[in-house]
Amino acid sequence: MAASFRSLTRAVSRPATRRLRPSPASIALPAVQKRLHSSKHPKGFEAPTTEELDELRERVHEFTRREITEEVAAHTDKSNAFPNEMWPKLGEAGFLGITADEDVGGLGMGYQAHAVVMEEMSRASGSIGLSYAAHSQLCVNQLQLNGSPEQKKKYLPGLIAGTKIGALAMSESGSGSDVVSMRTSAKKVDGGYLLNGSKMWITNGPDADLIVVYAKTEPDKGSKGITAFLVETKADGFSCARKLDKMGMRGSNTGELMFDNVFVPEDNVVGSVNGGVRVLMEGLDLERLVLSAGPLGIMQAALDVALPFSHQRKQFGSPIAHNQLVQGKLADMYTKLQASRAYTYATARQVDEQGVIRTQDCAGAILYAAERATECALDCIQLLGGMGYVEEMPASRLLRE
Ligand SMILES: Cc1cc2nc3c(=O)[nH]c(=O)nc-3n(C[C@H](O)[C@H](O)[C@H](O)COP(=O)(O)OP(=O)(O)OC[C@H]3O[C@@H](n4cnc5c(N)ncnc54)[C@H](O)[C@@H]3O)c2cc1C
Repeated sequence: MAASFRSLTRAVSRPATRRLRPSPASIALPAVQKRLHSSKHPKGFEAPTTEELDELRERVHEFTRREITEEVAAHTDKSNAFPNEMWPKLGEAGFLGITADEDVGGLGMGYQAHAVVMEEMSRASGSIGLSYAAHSQLCVNQLQLNGSPEQKKKYLPGLIAGTKIGALAMSESGSGSDVVSMRTSAKKVDGGYLLNGSKMWITNGPDADLIVVYAKTEPDKGSKGITAFLVETKADGFSCARKLDKMGMRGSNTGELMFDNVFVPEDNVVGSVNGGVRVLMEGLDLERLVLSAGPLGIMQAALDVALPFSHQRKQFGSPIAHNQLVQGKLADMYTKLQASRAYTYATARQVDEQGVIRTQDCAGAILYAAERATECALDCIQLLGGMGYVEEMPASRLLRE
């Protein structure tokens, strides 16, 4: 389906778009409209048109309606277990390599497209959306941006097909916000490095086959002594100490990982030795940007529940939606969603069309959307009355996500 989606968008959407645009010969386009790809984009990248993004959204929505039904989302939450049979389905649909090169199986698209997929995935299930992004953005995109040609050829096809699961491990129990204070070490030995230490709160950690791991190669050099590694979890000395029991995002499996003399070959260094902080920080901007679409999906899900409910639920002889206070809440929810969407997609469009990544906007977009999503989920619970408080409806799950 990856190939069919590609050919469909190129064949159907592009000609329609071209008709809408003035001919390049007749007008001098400013640089922003030239749609040049940046070093953050796959080979031959062209920023997508609105029609292509709409088409993609429709494709993802079709997929989630079929594969991530409300029953699947509720079961994932209640069982606190990711439905691992979902990975090859996501791979088959082409969603695991949105920003990866086509020659390794990716769709060769950009960050607006990735945000669209993340939004629709999270609309169906925030947990599945989070695990999806940890795989496709934190692992696949990090490898796409910083991996050597050999590393990409070796690892990306399996990750993109969904036959391998990816994760990224930077946080430790003692170093979260202050991630550079990490203690996991990587000692140089013949032919590679020995990793020792632990990582905490790692999304997909309990299931992952391949993890991008940050470790101190020269602890005395602080931020200049960190290196990124590709660690295969089948390596001796690697283990997942425990799966964490979380308040929300249940079923997005999160783990504490242990590294006990894990040998990582030299070939698995990502970027340069001691250059890990650049890899990490550049990755964080785009991770925040793509993950900011998660709360967008949750806000849309809250509206998907609250709108029909408030029109069907009658009190005092008429639908509760006929009350101005209820209409006010629905209007607030809608406005918060649209304002958050505008911020996320404007930031992603700037990355796709100008190659400009504004750190403050990547962080701002996720901060704004996450706070608005919490408010929308609370409003959804209030609008549903008693039904908002019971697990038969998804409102409480949306708040916890
Ligand atoms: C569901 C989930 C999934 C995650 N997935 C991953 C993953 O896949 N990979 C990974 O590496 N990590 C992951 N994390 C970890 C996440 O990145 C960290 O939780 C985050 O960086 C915060 O670190 P911390 O929890 O140690 O909080 P702390 O850094 O201890 O912060 C605690 C509080 O203090 C505040 N604070 C800290 N420093 C300052 C300051 N200077 N000024 C003011 N306030 C401050 C913080 O804002 C926060 O409110 C995940 C976490 C969660 C909850």
